[in-house]
Formats: sequence, structure tokens, C-alpha cells
Amino acid sequence: MCDFNYNIIESNRAADFILNQGEKISNKKCYKLLRGQKKTCPDCPLKATIQSGKIIPHSYFDRRFDEYFEERIYPVVAKQDINPESFVLMCRNVTDIKSHENKSAQLKKLSALGKISSGVAHDFNNMLTIVLGRIQSMRKHIDNPKVLRDLEMMEKSAFDGAEKVKKIQDFARHDKDELKTLIDLYKLINEVVELSEPKWEKDAESKGILIKPILNLEENLYINGNPSDLRNAFANIIFNAVDAMPDGGLIKISSYSDNQFVFVNFEDTGMGMTEEIMDKIFDPFFTTKGAKGTGMGMSEVYGIIKRHEGTINITSSIGLGTTMKIKIPKRKIKYIPASDEENVVIADSNVIENKSLKEHTPIKILIISEKGYDLTLIQELLSDLGYNVTTCNSYKNSINLFRKERFNIVFSDLGEPTMKGMATAQIIRNIKRNTITVLLSGLSLSQKEVHVFERSFNFTITKPFTKDKIKFIMQEINNLLKSGKN
Ligand code: ADP
Ligand code: MG
Repeated sequence: MCDFNYNIIESNRAADFILNQGEKISNKKCYKLLRGQKKTCPDCPLKATIQSGKIIPHSYFDRRFDEYFEERIYPVVAKQDINPESFVLMCRNVTDIKSHENKSAQLKKLSALGKISSGVAHDFNNMLTIVLGRIQSMRKHIDNPKVLRDLEMMEKSAFDGAEKVKKIQDFARHDKDELKTLIDLYKLINEVVELSEPKWEKDAESKGILIKPILNLEENLYINGNPSDLRNAFANIIFNAVDAMPDGGLIKISSYSDNQFVFVNFEDTGMGMTEEIMDKIFDPFFTTKGAKGTGMGMSEVYGIIKRHEGTINITSSIGLGTTMKIKIPKRKIKYIPASDEENVVIADSNVIENKSLKEHTPIKILIISEKGYDLTLIQELLSDLGYNVTTCNSYKNSINLFRKERFNIVFSDLGEPTMKGMATAQIIRNIKRNTITVLLSGLSLSQKEVHVFERSFNFTITKPFTKDKIKFIMQEINNLLKSGKN
């Protein structure tokens, strides 16, 4: 406590210990002792507090300790209508809270950056596919060693480029392939709760209220999806729940499943909302929080859940709280990663297996695509591996061809936008049920599509198509044929 000449009148034990090795600190100037200043601090919150009549917290970075502090000034009024004679100066170390704030600002920035870069990565991937494919096919027709060497270098650079793209995608975690990642919901929800801790614990604590999450989570709940998107969605919901509980409260998070779906429920004991708010809750930019809100949280949640083929159901009652129920289909799809070196088996055993496969069952492969370029590339890659391949550039003709030739493996492009490729795969399977079908895909699969594809295709192989990927997929097919489960 200080008088208005900044002399310290009284101090607590903590101040004595921190500022004066446990000795009483009365009769010293606060600016000298606290901040090591010779004159009153230019950013002293006293004036602003007196003028506004409100407690205005002031935080600053102290170079001497490399930490953040926050000062609040509470004027002490002895009698009403008399000007204050002294004030209580409260100073606390807020380094922890600040670093959490910085981290969450960082996260937001990263997410925006991620969105941009993943778009770029996607386009790049498509271009590299073309470059790589062209190089691979040119090498066949050239024997000039100089040109071959040049081509080799070009190929290497293109592969390096593809590696870089992979890094960007890893960072952004926003490429569409991520929608097929197997997600352990138990783990993911725990991560989100931990990540959002600064909001419900530190923020709440600094406001002097208590907010507590209560988890009732079933283990071993799996879905396929985009983990970073889902984390984002769940964090938005938790943040809103915290915002809705200015006096503190509980956030109950539970998860469970039935045969088809997993359910995740968020229940808060907050202020609830009116019908009108509920009607607009998913609108982009709709917020009741003034400048503090962005109104983007719930619209993002909506988009993300929808992309996961899920639904979100909200019930709320004023003064009692809000419940958000999310339902997402369980998934199972056989998926070949975009370019996951660990999964690419190039060992000799692979060749032997392929051989044994060829010995036992004559392998006849049909490739269907209206994209001539993809067609020749896959054909070349497969014939390089020693397979007999037939190509067809029309979905319609491919069915007649299939009736005649009875292929046992069919690679097919999706044939966007009409998705003829999917219908074709379905028809082919109706003709011969145990035909193995492989979807040739660009990167732009939506979760909804992936879900639908499961019914028509055994495998998915993504661009850029490479020899290693084709090798890997043929090995998988080999395993499937051997197990007889196709
Ligand atoms: P923001 O949080 O930036 O306001 P959101 O899209 O996340 O934007 O939420 C929109 C509005 O929905 C909020 O401003 C709030 O009025 C309301 N809302 C969202 N979640 C809750 C909740 N758990 N309890 C009460 N109101 C909520
Ligand atoms: Mg929000």
C-alpha cells in the first residue's frame, strides 16, 4: 500500500521476500523498489485508474527478469466523497499466462498459414505428377547417355520437390488425405482438453473463477478424418463453453458409440442462449460477444463436422447451460498413404511374392481412365513390374471389355465430375464379385466421397503415382488374393 507520493506504507510478506530479502519495505518509493526507476513510471496505471474510476490492469515485460508482470491499482477511500489518500498496488508475475496467450495466437496464425499452404501443396502435387510421369516415360525412348543423365537429375529434383510438398502438408495437416487418417477419439479429446487448458484454467483463474472439465470418455473409439480439423472444432466448442460461464462452472465431455456412430457430447453449465441466437449460431460472423468475438467458431465447427459426414445437435436453456451433441460415422477403409516411405516395401521378398502370385493365378489387369496421361503412366509402371496390362479410355467400353476378358484387377479413375468410374467399378463387381478394384485418385477427395468409395473399391492410390506405390499396392493385392478374402 502506497500514499500518493508513491511511498510504501505497508507491504505483504511476498513483497518483502521478493523485493527486500524478507525485510519490511516501508518508506521506500514503489517505482524504485518495484521497477528500478529513478522517477515515477511513465506507464503507471494509477492515473488511468483514478480518471476512469475502474481498475485498469497494466501488464509489461521486465527485462531484468525476462518475465511478464501485471499491475493493478486499487485506490483506498477512507470515507465517501473524500479523495483517496492511498492505493493498493498489486503486482503479479503473469509470464505463464502470457506465454499461453502467445501460444494460442501462434496456433491461430499457423492454422491460417496452413490453409494457404495446403492449397499450394495440392496444386504443386498435381504439377509434379505430370513432370514426373513425363520424365519416366521419356526415359524409355532415349538412349543418349547425356540426355538420360539430365533426365535423371530432373527426376531427382522433381522428387525432392514432392518431398518438400509432403513437408508442407505435414505442417499444414490440412490436405484432404488427412480426412482418411485413423483417429483415436479418446486420445484426440484428451489432447484438446490439454491444449485448451490455458483458456479454461489460466484465463479463469486470472478472473478469479473456477472452470472444470469433467471427462467421461470411452476408449477405443475410432473414426477416419482430419485430426487437426477435429481438434479445432472441439476446441471452439470448449472455448464457447468457457465464454458462456463468466462466473465459472463445469464442462462435461462424454463420448460413446453404437454400431454405426460415435457420439461426443459437450455440456456446459453456462448462461445458455435464446432461440434467436440458436438460429444463427452457425452463421459466419454471428457473435454476441461484440469486438471480442469473431463469430467464426461455430461456423467452422459446422463445416468440419459436416465434412466428417456427421451432425451436430444443440439444446440450450437460459441460465442452465448448453449441450452440443456430435455424431460421426465410424469408418473402415483400406487406404494407401500418399507417400509414406515406411509403407513402401521395395525388398526382394516383394518380387518373389509377386512372382508366386503370377505363377498361381494369371493376373489380368484393366486400367480405366479418360485421362490418357494417367492411363499410360500406370500402364508403364505396371508393365515395368512385369504385369500384363490392358487399358481403356472409355467407361462404357470398359464394361464390355471386362465381360469378354474377365480381368481380376481393375484400376479406375474416378471420372469426376460424373463419377462414372465409381459406377463402372460397381458394375464390374456385380459381374464378377471378387474382382479387385483400385481407385486412382487426385488429392481432392472429400470425406463423403471416401465413404462412398468403400463400397466400390478395395484400395485407393493417390497422386503422384510412382513405381514404389504401385509395387506396394500390388503386394497388398497379392496378400488379399492369397487370403482369399476379396
Ligand atoms: P464467437 O465465439 O466468436 O462469438 P461462435 O461462432 O463461436 O463465435 O459462436 C457464436 C455465438 O453463439 C456466440 O457469440 C454465442 O452467443 C453463442 N454460443 C456459442 N456457444 C455457446 C454456448 N456454449 N453457450 C451459450 N452461447 C453460445
Ligand atoms: Mg467461439
